[in-house]
Amino acid sequence: MKALLIDKPGSTRLIEKDLPTPGPKEVLLRTRVVGFCGSDLTTFRGLNPLVSYPRIPGHEIGATIEVVGSEVPATWQIGQDVLVLPYTACGACAACRQGRANCCQHNETLGVQRDGAMVEYFVAPHDKLLTSSKLSLRELALVEPLTVGFHSVARGRVSPDDTVAVFGCGAIGLGVIAGAAFRGARVIAIDVDDNKLELAQRCGATIGINSVKGSLHAQLQELTDGHGPEVIVEAVGLPQTFRSAVEEVSFAGRVVYIGYAKMPVEYETKFFVMKELDILGSRNAMLADFNSVIQLLEGGTFPVEAVITKSVSLSEAGTILESWSESPSEFTKIQVDFK
Ligand SMILES: [Zn+2]
Ligand SMILES: [Zn+2]
Repeated sequence: MKALLIDKPGSTRLIEKDLPTPGPKEVLLRTRVVGFCGSDLTTFRGLNPLVSYPRIPGHEIGATIEVVGSEVPATWQIGQDVLVLPYTACGACAACRQGRANCCQHNETLGVQRDGAMVEYFVAPHDKLLTSSKLSLRELALVEPLTVGFHSVARGRVSPDDTVAVFGCGAIGLGVIAGAAFRGARVIAIDVDDNKLELAQRCGATIGINSVKGSLHAQLQELTDGHGPEVIVEAVGLPQTFRSAVEEVSFAGRVVYIGYAKMPVEYETKFFVMKELDILGSRNAMLADFNSVIQLLEGGTFPVEAVITKSVSLSEAGTILESWSESPSEFTKIQVDFK
C-alpha cells in the first residue's frame, strides 16, 4: 500500500508500506478522505517544533472499517464510515488528571509526533472512533479541524450574551466562527481578504471587518458601543494580532489563543491587570467538541463544499503541499481523496 512521506523539510515522496494487522481492540481502516492541516504545512516547511522526520502526515480522517479486532464492541462493523480522534492521552500527567486530556503533556497527534493517516490503510483503537450515518466521508474528515475552533469558544466560555471577534478566517478561524455562532453569540470576523470574510459570514459571522480597510479599533468600538468585544479569539499567529487581541478586548474580557506565534511577542502588560483579562490558550479538542461539530454538520447549514477549496488524489498530494506552501492564502481546506 502507498503512503505520502514528508522526508525532510520541503521534500515529499510516495512510499510502499506493509498492510498493518489490527490488535484485538483495534480496527483496520481503509483511508477514504484525509484533509491537510495547517500543522502538516508547517511540517512540510520545517517550522513545526513538535515533529521529527521522516513523517507520514494527516489527522483529519474519513475512513471505512475493513477489519474488526476480536475484542472490538459490536457497535463497530465492517463497512462503517468513521472518523478518528487523532490524539493520545497518558492518563497520568497534570492535564489528564484534571480531565483535560486534550492538552496532555505527552499527547501524540497522528501525523505530528507519530505517523498519520496519509496512507491507504492504518489501524486505530476502537475507542478513538466516532461516526454519524448522516455525514459523508468528506464531512467526517472535516470534523476534526472544526473541533479546534469549537474548543476555543468553549475555553472562552462564549454565551449568547457575548460579542466574539475572531482574528483570521482560515480553516481554523472558520471553525471558531461556526462554534461561536453555534453557541448563539454575535460574531465579528476579521481578515485581510474579502473573499474569506464572505465565507466567514456563510459560516455564521454576523459581520466581517477587512482590517486593511480603515481602523480596526474604530470599527470594533463602533460595533460594540465603545466597549470592545467580550471575547477575542486569535487564529492568525502573528505578534501584532496577539497584541491586538489584548488591546481590543473589553474590560473583564476573555482572550483565547489557538495558533503558535512563530516569534516572541512583546506586550503592554498593563491591559492584563487593568482590564482583569482572562488570557487562555486552546489546544486540540475534547470529545464534547467533536459531538457539537457533528451536530452542526448534520444540520446541513455549514458551507462544506465552499470550505473544501481543493480535492486531490494521493499521487497529487505532495505537489499540492508545495502549491499550498507557495500560496497559503489561496487554499482554505485541501482534502486528499483516496477513492
Ligand atoms: Zn490539525
Ligand atoms: Zn497526560
